[in-house]
Amino acid sequence: MSSVPRVCNQETERVDAIIVGLGPAGATALRLLGEAGLRVVGLDRANFPRTKACGGGLSSRATSFLPKGWDRIPHTVSTGVHLVYDIQPPVLFDMGIPIAYQFDRRDLDAFLVESAKSTGGEILLGTNVRLLEWKEGKFRLTCDPQRSYESRFLIAADGVTSSVLRFLVNTESDGLKEIARERKRPLWMYPASEMEIQSQTPPRTSDVLIDLSAVPGGYAWSFAKRDGKKNIGVVGFLKPLKRPLETLRSFLDTFPEKDGNRYEPAFGPATWLIPNYSRFKGHGKIPGLFLIGDAGAMVDPFLGEGIYYAMLSASRAVSEILQHTQSPEEASQSYSRWVYRSIFREFSYAQKLASVIYRFPGVYFRLVQKYPQVLSIYASVMTGKRDYRSFSRVIGKNLLKLPFRGVFKKLRPDKLI
Ligand SMILES: Cc1cc2nc3c(=O)[nH]c(=O)nc-3n(C[C@H](O)[C@H](O)[C@H](O)COP(=O)(O)OP(=O)(O)OC[C@H]3O[C@@H](n4cnc5c(N)ncnc54)[C@H](O)[C@@H]3O)c2cc1C
Repeated sequence: MSSVPRVCNQETERVDAIIVGLGPAGATALRLLGEAGLRVVGLDRANFPRTKACGGGLSSRATSFLPKGWDRIPHTVSTGVHLVYDIQPPVLFDMGIPIAYQFDRRDLDAFLVESAKSTGGEILLGTNVRLLEWKEGKFRLTCDPQRSYESRFLIAADGVTSSVLRFLVNTESDGLKEIARERKRPLWMYPASEMEIQSQTPPRTSDVLIDLSAVPGGYAWSFAKRDGKKNIGVVGFLKPLKRPLETLRSFLDTFPEKDGNRYEPAFGPATWLIPNYSRFKGHGKIPGLFLIGDAGAMVDPFLGEGIYYAMLSASRAVSEILQHTQSPEEASQSYSRWVYRSIFREFSYAQKLASVIYRFPGVYFRLVQKYPQVLSIYASVMTGKRDYRSFSRVIGKNLLKLPFRGVFKKLRPDKLI
């Protein structure tokens, strides 16, 4: 592939692939394409390190996508899940193995971009897309400072508000016009707020804490970070939060004083959006276009986990490009089939779980009180031991088809792990 002439006219440089956005999705794609020897350009409007509203919790299954040396990025390790409901005593389930790694996105994303750089890809930071068009089977992108690139493959990794999609809506593709209409509807994304807090005393637990009573139709989290810091946040999945910052502040108020020291805000708060996959129909509309990570609505609607899916979708897009170098159409169609049949199907099970658990959090909490092993629902998904499909089957069979009084007797949580 890299045998194509480098320059097609004075201004436009021909490359094997263009990547817009270098968060976990784009940086992973850039690194993998670079390692395969392709000539790639990746650009991001930010300079790194940059902030990103995010809990920074990386499930342990996601670490398989990280480049060598990731364990040297400052982080903490969570081995258990702490479930909170109202004023009831919390329930803890410890897996005894790492289920999540807690990073600061500034460190993680800068590391990913740095690793991609070392594979030889061209990287433009602090650069905005000025113009993007798809004509005669090729993408032509112009960015600051007055540079143009042309390629048959374009990877959109520019997050939930994807400017690539906005530019391409003007192409002839009816499918993309449809997306533009969808995006005007309020339910295509969930607002989520997060902030970092600091306590003078060391954190009592490094577990993932999930509070089911703090957010109607969703949950609040607390992830223990280094040096006594915690990332706390809120998201509503059954209906978008109208005032996420207010919900976040109320959640912060529930944090107890410890030895006379109250948790104080250390960074943030920030509010950003989580895409709703079920509203997203953008894949496979333009030959050679790959929507990965948040730009392709790759966030699970139960936990809101997106970093894993960002890197997973990047890796899949790259393998499709490598497999179908001569046919951008086949490459993006095959990627699109994988998204709908595999990822979005899995998300549909996650959504079923969300609609039961977040609608009846009290019932779920009682179940967990009785059988703390049920908390392995979080843990075994995060370690990759289980998927949402198998869980929603077990939970669905036992929880939905039975009257609630019978649930505790008939459910066999020992079978879940
Ligand atoms: C409050 C909150 C908490 C979350 N917590 C977690 C969590 O704990 N764990 C988890 O797994 N997921 C979490 N998520 C989801 C996760 O943050 C995203 O799924 C993940 O960041 C997606 O990665 P990405 O690379 O697709 O996009 P992003 O990380 O959003 O990166 C997109 C990149 O594109 C760049 N860009 C945007 N527009 C342009 C443009 N026009 N030109 C050039 N560059 C552009 C941006 O600067 C950015 O660097 C959370 C989300 C929110 C909102």
